[in-house]
Amino acid sequence: MSAVKANTPFVRLFGRYLREQGLPVTHQREAVAEVVFTSPEHLSVDEIERRLRQGGERIGKATVYRTLDLLVRSRLVEEHDFGEGFKRYEHRLSRQPVHEHLICLECGKVIEFRSAEIQRVEARVRDEHGFLPARHRVEIYGICRECREAGATIPAGGLTCPIDTV
Ligand SMILES: [Zn+2]
Ligand SMILES: [Zn+2]
Repeated sequence: MSAVKANTPFVRLFGRYLREQGLPVTHQREAVAEVVFTSPEHLSVDEIERRLRQGGERIGKATVYRTLDLLVRSRLVEEHDFGEGFKRYEHRLSRQPVHEHLICLECGKVIEFRSAEIQRVEARVRDEHGFLPARHRVEIYGICRECREAGATIPAGGLTCPIDTV
């Protein structure tokens, strides 16, 4: 008997995907899937590993990466690259299907928001260009409220006045 409670319907769906692909449904794969499916956050691999350890699981990094790759391919999990040098993973099905992201450059927090305006823009562009949209991605980078209250500001990037350097 496995220690992980592989009873969420999403873990069973993932198991079905693995069997369809001719891949073994292992306890380790189920444990990784369980962590992603039971978290409301956008988890990094490090965070996923920490939660597995906290749950008493000992699973190597390679297995975690491989399982995340399979989860993304099964389309149950979405992979994000917010430019932090690592990927984040979120469960696609238990959440609002259409949401956008705010990413704090100071603390790395990811905040979700929904926007009827953005969906209206998508509809208008579809009509104007006869383009059938499958998905879109809106990411706003900045400083979250907590970090602003702690005094963080947006770092100045690049040259302020290129003429001065000549
Ligand atoms: Zn922040
Ligand atoms: Zn999200």
